Amino acid sequence: MQFWFCNWGVVGFCFLREKNMALITCPECKKRISETANSCQNCGFQLSPEIVAKAKKDEKAALAFAFRREHKAKKDEKIANLVILIVIAGIIVFVYKCAQDGSSPHRDTVNTSPSSIDKKIEAWVMAESFVKKYLKSPGTASFGGLFSNYQDPRTHVTYLGNHIYQVQGWVDSQNSFGATVRINFLLKLKDNGNDNWNLLETPVLVEQ
Ligand SMILES: [Zn+2]
Repeated sequence: MQFWFCNWGVVGFCFLREKNMALITCPECKKRISETANSCQNCGFQLSPEIVAKAKKDEKAALAFAFRREHKAKKDEKIANLVILIVIAGIIVFVYKCAQDGSSPHRDTVNTSPSSIDKKIEAWVMAESFVKKYLKSPGTASFGGLFSNYQDPRTHVTYLGNHIYQVQGWVDSQNSFGATVRINFLLKLKDNGNDNWNLLETPVLVEQ
């Protein structure tokens, strides 16, 4: 009984010893050998504590080098993956933008500058509505069309500053006798903002 216990104890001790025992590379034959050996089991190279210490140091350096190399490889792989991801994201955004540009018409932005053509068109439209109030038969009023007798707001509206516009033009409409006459008009109106316009003075209307 004691014998068996002793045996198993030795085996266990050897097993632990083996587990903790490191291997070094023989400086002569480069084979893996135990660091506790006095000489290389393979080539018989004599091992001194100094040689073992140097071999262990080399071992650690080699391990560190291998680790750094692996670490760098992993880092490079991560960077490569990131670059691929960015490129894919870029392509997705580009394709999306192209699809958007293709599907939706270009949006016109309204120029809100007082002297802009957009404001002059607005002034012209307002002038038409003000002029109609002074006509005998507003329903018959015609200020010309886009394709004939066009009165271009760019030439018929003058910006006077301080949000005031002078509008001059003509209007065809029926008089009280039912005859169509052309009336020249001149008026000044002010833009108060928020689609609020008002006449500054009584408009001048002169029948041609
Ligand atoms: Zn050896």
